[in-house]
Amino acid sequence: MGASDKPFTLRFWGTRGSLPAPRSTTIRYGGNTPCLEIRVEDRILIFDAGSGIRPLGDRLLKEKDPVQASIFFTHYHWDHIHGFPFFSAAFKQDNHFVVYGEPRGSRNVKDILSGQMAMPYFPVPLDAMRARFSFRDVGPGSRLQIGPAVMRTESLNHPGRAQSYRIEYGGKSIVYASDTEHGFKLDERLVRHAAGADILIYDATYTPKEYRDGKQTWGHSTWEEGIKVAKAAGVRKLLLFHHEPSRDDRALAAIETLARKEFRACSASREGKIYVP
Ligand SMILES: [Zn+2]
Ligand SMILES: [Zn+2]
Repeated sequence: MGASDKPFTLRFWGTRGSLPAPRSTTIRYGGNTPCLEIRVEDRILIFDAGSGIRPLGDRLLKEKDPVQASIFFTHYHWDHIHGFPFFSAAFKQDNHFVVYGEPRGSRNVKDILSGQMAMPYFPVPLDAMRARFSFRDVGPGSRLQIGPAVMRTESLNHPGRAQSYRIEYGGKSIVYASDTEHGFKLDERLVRHAAGADILIYDATYTPKEYRDGKQTWGHSTWEEGIKVAKAAGVRKLLLFHHEPSRDDRALAAIETLARKEFRACSASREGKIYVP
């Protein structure tokens, strides 16, 4: 709970990077691609629209009428947008969504989302979504007031750009920093952005060995590098995120065990689990 005992919660609807990975051996940590739901008092903030936004949409339709939420995009790689056309809550009139993302050249977040809902990729256009939409540009270095929460954005190191979000409320903070690749030295920009955060969600796609063996410049990082950032930034809890699709529950549990030897408050993000900063 927040300082005022009003809700400030984080729930993962998708923790998997790159491609959904649904199978019996990924049930514990989850198989859906990135989608986060953060509740701040009665506000609903959604981050990214991977395949996890499909079950989130169904859940919101059951819970609220009308549904009102803000949706924030880190970037537009498929795994962060491919659930959007299946976001059931967007097809219902009277629902309202404010959608934030960074433009790419002359294309804003609306142009980019409607680009994937067009032939030959998809049969149903964005216009078929009956909810009311407002689209807003937001780039790195921004500060937004979203109801009672303060949101800050910062650049990540990712091919074609990506941005992280820091959400603050009631003296607590959550930083969502995926997708990003560490460099040869610590990312001081991210360390500043995550300074003192209660929860840091970090791109831990690869093991250190996988990263060394041919995954450099692919735009992702490791649990080891996440711990370096968390320690330098004085983060309270580190959540490893963007799990590699071939990684099963056993492999993720083994990474957790290894990581906790270096940073006690470290877990692999779990789909369906609610975290309180
Ligand atoms: Zn991704
Ligand atoms: Zn990406």
